[in-house]
Amino acid sequence: MLELLDRVRANVESALFEIAEAAGISGRKPEEITIMAVTKTHPAEFITKAVECGIKHIGENRVSEGGRKIRQLGKEYAVFHAIGVLHRKEVRQAVRDFHCLDAIHKIEIIEELARRNADPLLLLEVNTSGEPAKMGFKPDVDLLESALGRALELKLPVKGFLTVGPLCGIPLLQRKAFSELRDIRDSLETRLKVSLPELSMGMSDDFTLAVLEGSTMVRLGRRLFGSREG
Ligand SMILES: *Cc1c(COP(=O)(O)O)cnc(C)c1O
Repeated sequence: MLELLDRVRANVESALFEIAEAAGISGRKPEEITIMAVTKTHPAEFITKAVECGIKHIGENRVSEGGRKIRQLGKEYAVFHAIGVLHRKEVRQAVRDFHCLDAIHKIEIIEELARRNADPLLLLEVNTSGEPAKMGFKPDVDLLESALGRALELKLPVKGFLTVGPLCGIPLLQRKAFSELRDIRDSLETRLKVSLPELSMGMSDDFTLAVLEGSTMVRLGRRLFGSREG
């Protein structure tokens, strides 16, 4: 499968170039932004190829599908992130298999994680686009302060936030969804006196806009591997 490897390598390089450009425009250093390869629906071999191209972070949106690939490759093969919304009955498996759980969307899940003494790093998902089909906490600083406060009280390692940008394709609105999350993060760092360095924002169609607004991790699927439909 040399062909797949070459394709992924070229795509990683061009994505890194675009990230560096966007970082430069916004006065940031390219090293502040990490690419996560999103390998959902693809076989474990795609994870191998991404890692061979220097990618260290792998995102899977389903706990069962991701868990299968992680066990196939070994948990130490990469840093594995669960980026899909986590249901209560999946918490046990997710805590065992993944290093990071990036889409915590309910206090109930926070409580369940604490009951299991979860050690994966956590991000809270916030629905900044307001699209009803999207999951996540409402972008309300008071609500998020109480969720985050509860997680910290329970000694859970929350590192920041994740959002999925709007589908509208209007750059101003896309940027607004990302800048809103950065503003929320800034307020909560001040209010709770904690460091929340991670902003997981941006996918294949909007990652440069997310980088302009402070993203620290872009989640790329189609941009690296082509369409998931085959
Ligand atoms: C599928 C998925 C991605 C990657 O999407 P692409 O558009 O293929 O880059 C990123 N984040 C989440 C939460 C996803 O489910």
